[in-house]
Amino acid sequence: MTDPHQLLVRNPATEETVALVPAAGPQDVDAAVARAARVQPAWAALAPADRARLLRRFADTVDAHLEELARLEVREAGHTVGNARWEAGNARDLLLYAAGGAERLLGKQIPVPGGWNVTFQEPLGMIGVIAPWNFPMPIAAWGSFPALAAGNAVVLKPAETTPLTALRLAELGLEAGLPEHLFQVLPGYGDTAGRALVDHPDIAKIVFTGSTRTGREVMERCARLVKPVTLELGGKSPSIVFADADLKAALDPLSFLDNAGQDCCARTRILVQDTVLDEARDVLADALAAVVVGDPADEKTQMGPLISAPQLERVRSYVPADAPALRGSAPDGPGYWFPPTVLTGERPDSAAAREEIFGPVAVLLPFTDEQDAIRLANDTPYGLSGSVWTRDVGRALRVSQGVRAGNLSVNSHSSVRYWTPFGGFKQSGLGRELGPDALTAFTETKNVFISTEGPAQ
Ligand code: NAD
Repeated sequence: MTDPHQLLVRNPATEETVALVPAAGPQDVDAAVARAARVQPAWAALAPADRARLLRRFADTVDAHLEELARLEVREAGHTVGNARWEAGNARDLLLYAAGGAERLLGKQIPVPGGWNVTFQEPLGMIGVIAPWNFPMPIAAWGSFPALAAGNAVVLKPAETTPLTALRLAELGLEAGLPEHLFQVLPGYGDTAGRALVDHPDIAKIVFTGSTRTGREVMERCARLVKPVTLELGGKSPSIVFADADLKAALDPLSFLDNAGQDCCARTRILVQDTVLDEARDVLADALAAVVVGDPADEKTQMGPLISAPQLERVRSYVPADAPALRGSAPDGPGYWFPPTVLTGERPDSAAAREEIFGPVAVLLPFTDEQDAIRLANDTPYGLSGSVWTRDVGRALRVSQGVRAGNLSVNSHSSVRYWTPFGGFKQSGLGRELGPDALTAFTETKNVFISTEGPAQ
């Protein structure tokens, strides 16, 4: 039974209790928004250079606590310590990037008959950020830091299972000198605190990252108030591997089992040209057997546990024991472990091939030629990420243009760089985070006309 008044944070590698955290209810959301409303105008009125200076100090404070934040992420989310360090570093780097953006958030001047128009990018006010459990720290940062830099206040609701790193980030912000109540973290349940944040009339925008199902509801509720929303939702991303590719690099299993596959960008559909299918199977079998699965706090570990018992059940439901598959190994427990798995007998229209499993499970599917590869890659309601593996530059470009997804990589499995826009096509989402326009997404454009007509003679 879940307790509506508190959140139980468990270490997914051991099932031990890490913390009990009070759960915010709708009244707490009201109070937090009221507090934010009192401090946001002064923050917006600060000279951009002064806002930037405080955010850089915040980045320095995060940097000084990098290892502590990383270790906390390992304990609450089961991330490998190497990944968790990257995540804490990503939060720090984004603060620095957003600080620079604050100083470059410019309007335009547009000559018009009889005068000039001047545009201003004004902060929206109070932003609600709702984060999932799979990347608690970076996603808290992506939604919040550009919003702060643009002059907004933020109320962030982390996921039920992973509130600790976000809470710590907010403490570090205060330590660095951010005004009190500017960046508030309210742990709570989605159907109470989450809904209250979405429905709050003084929250000017919602940045939601999570499942497509919940994202749909959030968008519907925002529509009632004509409230803008950014949605970062699910994925079922392809890795398209042509026969001329470097097969070992292209079939690196970390492309789908990094973070135990609980990664919206995981390349869980491995599309391989039919002429090298047997070879690909051999490469994958060897690679899966070599993946180091175990204690995420150990520097050598490549894959940790799933987040929770329900998530483990969900993943199991897609992989019957007798399903044709290549399999690695995983510990028995305690903890929520599932072995790295590539299903080899799926049809493109099966549930495992079409739905987001969110575990260390991929499907292997053959294709014949470029057109077939593009057709298969697009045969899903999602469009978040994907990779194209080939040595033929023309083909890489043609296929990248043909695939309907927001973030593609050629001869690489990486998807996220804070300098570049990130977001999904189709049911993977709406709007973009990160990149050069990250701050603009947290502003309204105001257009002022200035007459140059003199007084009537
Ligand atoms: P989820 O949708 O269950 O929950 C996400 C967040 O929404 C949580 O904080 C939850 O408490 C809150 N929530 C739940 N119901 C709500 C409601 N009715 N109103 C408001 N808030 C509510 O998702 P999850 O299981 O935590 O996360 C996994 C999902 O997130 C996967 O589908 C994954 O692909 C997606 N994801 C997407 C991206 C991206 O950038 N596209 C990144 C990471 C994760």
